[in-house]
Amino acid sequence: MKICLIDPPLPYSSPPLAPLILEYLGGLTKRVMSEAEIELLDPKFSPFSVEKVEADLVGICGSRIVTLPWVYSTADTLRKRGMQVVLGGFNPSAMPEEAKKHADAVVIGEAESVWHEVLEDARKGQLKPFYHGMPLPLENLPLPIRMPGYKFHGIFTMRGCSYGCKFCALRGLYGKAHRYRPIDEVVKEVDSLKERFYWNTDGNIWGGNINRAIDLFTALKGSNKKWYGFGDLKALETSSGDKLIKAARESGLLSLWLGCEEKFVGVFEKKKVEAIKKLKSNGIDPILAIILGKRTDSLDDFDRIVELSDKLGIMVHPFLLVPFPGTELYEEYKPFLLKEGQWKYYDGAHALFSHPQMSPEQREEKFFSIVFELFTLKRVFRHLFEIPLNVFPAGHFAFLMREFPMRQGMKMAYKKWLQDSKSPIQS
Ligand code: SF4
Repeated sequence: MKICLIDPPLPYSSPPLAPLILEYLGGLTKRVMSEAEIELLDPKFSPFSVEKVEADLVGICGSRIVTLPWVYSTADTLRKRGMQVVLGGFNPSAMPEEAKKHADAVVIGEAESVWHEVLEDARKGQLKPFYHGMPLPLENLPLPIRMPGYKFHGIFTMRGCSYGCKFCALRGLYGKAHRYRPIDEVVKEVDSLKERFYWNTDGNIWGGNINRAIDLFTALKGSNKKWYGFGDLKALETSSGDKLIKAARESGLLSLWLGCEEKFVGVFEKKKVEAIKKLKSNGIDPILAIILGKRTDSLDDFDRIVELSDKLGIMVHPFLLVPFPGTELYEEYKPFLLKEGQWKYYDGAHALFSHPQMSPEQREEKFFSIVFELFTLKRVFRHLFEIPLNVFPAGHFAFLMREFPMRQGMKMAYKKWLQDSKSPIQS
């Protein structure tokens, strides 16, 4: 049986990061059906034509909501051509009935417990409409099939998160309890990577357990690789904060996306400023991913972002709030939603709900105006030169590999927004 797995392309440019979900699902497929012929396709990286796809079963990942229009139209075409299609990931799991309209089967939840059954049913041409995956312990996981030609590959060390961020789609799929991979298995996987850089794709690299994080980072120290991840500042404000930063730095952590806290807008407390200073002095480049445009935000909050970036001396990446289906926030904002079901607008650059004081156009215009201020070449290079020389060249290289695709992506998003709205703003 030939199985083709596809990771849908984002509408805007993205860093040269291999799609971990695809690579991991490839490894899982190899384990549960060793005789299958497996093809992994990443249309953002290699030329792709839906007419050229040939397989008995096609699996498409629907984890990024803005790609759903592409996912659905590709799935429709493949099914018309007689192929069986299965969809899975965050959004098909949160909206299985919608996904089913475009697929022979939908995997709801994590695939590991049901993937063997899906493949056997597909072999017989008897796919069931829905497969409900159960969360399993994360031990003895298959090694991903690594795709060649990328600068970065991803790993994960855990699933689930006990933090209560209302906007987070991750908890809907993986649950609120942390499940950890054995440290020696993570180290083995990192050691098996050929490239020097990798992404830790955990929702929060501290993992809700500071001692486990320190043990993991200490074990990774010998890997001689550099990495990036997502985290929060709360863990760094504890009495173990210094030890945690040191262990993370020695394990090769180069930069940390801080996006796991809802209240970054407005007053930036002294202890958070201190934690950011500590990260910087240890050669870890922090990036603030700030969510804007909540119903409780004001236009002043938008204006404070550029000031905050300059004051902290770090890059800030703003996004307009996206109420992802399946999250607490989605339920809360349901009465105010404006573009429900029009997933192409769920890209972090569109206003998706009504606001007591600001129109959608006001929020979008303001968003793009601060994006252009934050991403001026002058500001980008100023932040680049603020990275300590003791992490040169890896830290500086990582910064450029991240910021330039991001800058390009924002420009593309703006161009698209202009075409849609036909109301240009000054840039
Ligand atoms: S945003 Fe980060 S910290 Fe918050 S629930 Fe999601 S993974 Fe956890």
